[in-house]
Amino acid sequence: MSAPDLDALVDGIRAGQRAMAARAITLVESRRADHRAAARELLARLAEHAPPTPAVRVGISGVPGVGKSTFIETLGTHLTARGHRVGVLAVDPSSVRTGGSVLGDKTRMPALSVDPNAFIRPSPSAGTLGGVAAATSQAMSVLEGAGYDVVLVETVGVGQSEITVAGMVDTFLFLTLARTGDQLQGIKKGILEIADVIAVNKADAEGAGGVDREVEARAAARELAGAMRMVRGPQEWAPPVVTCSGLTGTGVDDVWERVLAHRDHLGRDGLLAKRAQQQLDFTWTLVRDQLDERLRRSPGVAALRDELAADVLSGRLSAPAAADRILAAYDADPRD
Ligand code: GDP
Repeated sequence: MSAPDLDALVDGIRAGQRAMAARAITLVESRRADHRAAARELLARLAEHAPPTPAVRVGISGVPGVGKSTFIETLGTHLTARGHRVGVLAVDPSSVRTGGSVLGDKTRMPALSVDPNAFIRPSPSAGTLGGVAAATSQAMSVLEGAGYDVVLVETVGVGQSEITVAGMVDTFLFLTLARTGDQLQGIKKGILEIADVIAVNKADAEGAGGVDREVEARAAARELAGAMRMVRGPQEWAPPVVTCSGLTGTGVDDVWERVLAHRDHLGRDGLLAKRAQQQLDFTWTLVRDQLDERLRRSPGVAALRDELAADVLSGRLSAPAAADRILAAYDADPRD
């Protein structure tokens, strides 16, 4: 990408031009030093015109196959039909961006991907989770600047990415399937700790044998609500556990009402305080990410890497001793 014309970008974004929003997101995803500087300037300029009401930022998570894309397609089209402008971003550190990913979104979310009031962007290509999250967080700001009043961030239901996304959004929605008893153990405790709203999805009579899964889902929701109370204890916000079907649309509006109720519960001051704290946490994520990058690029470390690896693998050198030598080599790098 050539050096961006920031004036044109800011004007285009504020005028709601999709191509400009897309370019700006490409800019915030770039790792080039000049692009990073331009991205910071762009975000600062967009922040000057921040909308009076902050966009609703929602993280949506759940294991692959739980129905996230289908749910987002249904929720997104409901929202645009009501006059909202909806941005959809994704955080998937394992994703490899190919020319096919846009097509992928067309099949995953066929109606939303052609909806003029929706903007869908696949995950930045594989990188560190911190890097992917940083790009996504800045992309959220771009979309807010472009007048999207709802931003949905989809995350793959594995590993650390959920925790990271929960740290970037106002409300974290966890989608799950009807599970009872022992199966409940399969839901990571960490997820129950960060979820603000839980929805048992696929509560419908579609699919295998047309079994009515609604009753099953309700029972599972009750059990899950009990498990939640045990994990989180008494607190101000008791995360609701509801049922829905992204496929038929039943209950999707109710899920959205719960999301808005959580936001109401935070209140304007609470929301701003939450976002401010997130920015502080994010600051340190960026610092750690940059340090990681510098370590990887360090000539001193590179010169030692193979030798140390061989020594540790053969047992000649202990891990703490090797770590000391790596850090010493890093500290001895010439600084510019
Ligand atoms: P994702 O991997 O979490 O994004 O899940 P998808 O949205 O791609 O859905 C995975 C599969 O479950 C697809 O075959 C969907 O058609 C199906 N599915 C998604 N939502 C529902 C639902 O609400 N009810 C039923 N019965 N099937 C669903």
